[in-house]
Amino acid sequence: MRASCNSYVDVHAHIGVTVSRARPIGQDAAKYLARMGTSNVHAAIISPTAGGPQSRGVVDTKLQNIEIAEACRSHPERFPIGLGIVEVRHQRAGVDELERCMRDDGLLGFMCHPVLSGHALEEELHPFLEVVNQLGGMCLLHLSGTSAKVAAYATRYPGIAFIVGHASMSPEGEQDVVEHCGSAENIWLDIAQKPDPEESSWSLQKLISRVGRGRVLFGSDAPYYDYRRVQRLIEDSPLSDVEAAQVAAGNAVTLIRRFKPTWKLPPTPAQAPTGYPGGDIWTTNGRRLV
Ligand SMILES: [Zn+2]
Repeated sequence: MRASCNSYVDVHAHIGVTVSRARPIGQDAAKYLARMGTSNVHAAIISPTAGGPQSRGVVDTKLQNIEIAEACRSHPERFPIGLGIVEVRHQRAGVDELERCMRDDGLLGFMCHPVLSGHALEEELHPFLEVVNQLGGMCLLHLSGTSAKVAAYATRYPGIAFIVGHASMSPEGEQDVVEHCGSAENIWLDIAQKPDPEESSWSLQKLISRVGRGRVLFGSDAPYYDYRRVQRLIEDSPLSDVEAAQVAAGNAVTLIRRFKPTWKLPPTPAQAPTGYPGGDIWTTNGRRLV
């Protein structure tokens, strides 16, 4: 391990179960804490899994949001920020639930997965963004098509902090993000699932040289990916120790403290909760956790 990367902050971790894809995959907070504890992840921004149960509509979404809020309340040092989830078909009821989970449960915004939750990242999200803008917060957005849509949100809502999820999944995708979001002051980029080994033509170092070293964040995309691969990519990259530490944790700490100024990064890794049933938490199918 690179000494400067002795702690990570994960801005892109999902808690819950995706049931809309075969086979269902998920993790509860305890399992993720167990994973954190053995991968030097000291803290995380958590949000529900997209594609969760929806047999009762927005009631199910509320339960997803409550699960995040309870994890944050139980482990405020590990989970200083929790985000809710929004589904396009809930319309006004979904906007009301977002406002409820932010006001009553202390969540700080929302995560949106356009493919699994039906969004197009266009006007349909404006009512949700109005809530976040009014209450102050952040949004983790998975992409649907060009990242120019995120840039348009960032211009319309300069007070919201946006994270583009999976900004570096492919050279073409990264180019699009750099082009549209690279100079926006309220957009950060996470590198969840950045393929390894690193290719010099679109390396982490090149990304940082284009968008600035304060803008790139580590994201795990747990429970879907063996994110230790991305950690190795950061540590093996030709980044300076300072740059690598910023990507691993420093930039995320700065972002979190904008909203939680008294929060401090725990100096030690998370501990697996007592009573966690165990099993192999790192079983993979290729690059994917199972
Ligand atoms: Zn995700």
